[in-house]
Amino acid sequence: MYCRSCGKEVVETAEVCVGCGSKPNAGTRYCQHCGVETDPRAEVCVKCGIRLATAAARPKEGKDWLVALLLSIFLGQLGVDRFYLGYIGIGILKLVTVGGCGIWWLVDLILIASNKLKDSDGRELVRK
Ligand SMILES: [Zn+2]
Ligand SMILES: [Zn+2]
Repeated sequence: MYCRSCGKEVVETAEVCVGCGSKPNAGTRYCQHCGVETDPRAEVCVKCGIRLATAAARPKEGKDWLVALLLSIFLGQLGVDRFYLGYIGIGILKLVTVGGCGIWWLVDLILIASNKLKDSDGRELVRK
């Protein structure tokens, strides 16, 4: 790839450009794919057609609240709701204890129903 600030070729995994010292994706002047100069406001490279990389990656959307709720109601005792939200360890624990004899299942169900439980990345669940 190319540094988006100075156009110098850098390795794909580079955190910092050896040419200018900034993050390779931080700039807006060159295409990261072919190294051609780009319009700072362009989203797509006019030469190679690739989507230009941006340093500010869009935050990933949270998990679906309704899916989590349904999983919690029907499969909560097997920890499937926790698996869905990314809490693998807690999910397994819930699975082997059969939802903490139903208590844990109920607690998680209430937490999800009132949208108090976030996913393992700390994002709120999205109601669609
Ligand atoms: Zn650079
Ligand atoms: Zn390009």
